[in-house]
Amino acid sequence: MLRLENVHSYYGGIEALHGVSLYVNSGEIVAMIGANGAGKSTTLMTICGEPRARSGRILFDGVDITLEPTFQIIRNGLSHAPEGRRIFSRMTVLENLQMGAVTSDPSHFQDDLNSVLNLFPILDERQQQRGGTLSGGEQQMLAIARALMSSPKLLILDEPSLGLAPKLVQQIRDIICNINEQGTSVLLVEQNATMALSIADRGYVIENGRIVREGTSRDLLA
Ligand code: ATP
Repeated sequence: MLRLENVHSYYGGIEALHGVSLYVNSGEIVAMIGANGAGKSTTLMTICGEPRARSGRILFDGVDITLEPTFQIIRNGLSHAPEGRRIFSRMTVLENLQMGAVTSDPSHFQDDLNSVLNLFPILDERQQQRGGTLSGGEQQMLAIARALMSSPKLLILDEPSLGLAPKLVQQIRDIICNINEQGTSVLLVEQNATMALSIADRGYVIENGRIVREGTSRDLLA
């Protein structure tokens, strides 16, 4: 479903990704783990076109998306819940979810909203509350829910467990499994390697902008 071939990415003159290659098969959960500054978020952002890969190729669902604009990449069926949640804090929960659907066919909105609120009952109760007044865990759920509003084939999650209490990490973990069981492939970036590998089929370890190890989650955990 997704394939990165020898992707190099830069911030100005500084090379952040030195030839990253990875793939996600349809139906899989794939984890990418690594320390602070290893290049995890840069990999995810490069997939979405910002920063743009300067060399190498990114293929999604058989289409070369390396040079496509971000809105088109999202329309193709890829969605990204960024690190730090980055919800619209002055908008209500419902408005945040509407923003997640801007690239979708408006006639699907109500069905998509119902299925997302079904997955996150707490957001259903708080539709009119401003995003910035939600708890950290609720904001994380809103970030994932917003990403799901475009009905992606592949959901990209950047450190969804960051800063959450163990009980909430468990809840987020169950939600990711649930989303995957409903047919969405997942690329999951985490520093919480144990959590990520406990639900992933396969994983990659990234260090200084290079993939240094890959394998099944069982092998990587061992
Ligand atoms: P963390 O777990 O701390 O979020 P990460 O693995 O996601 O780390 P990245 O955010 O991808 O790491 O950063 C990779 C490298 O690129 C780091 O050296 C970082 O300082 C650099 N970098 C990230 N964003 C920018 C930017 N906008 N401008 C310049 N350099 C950047």
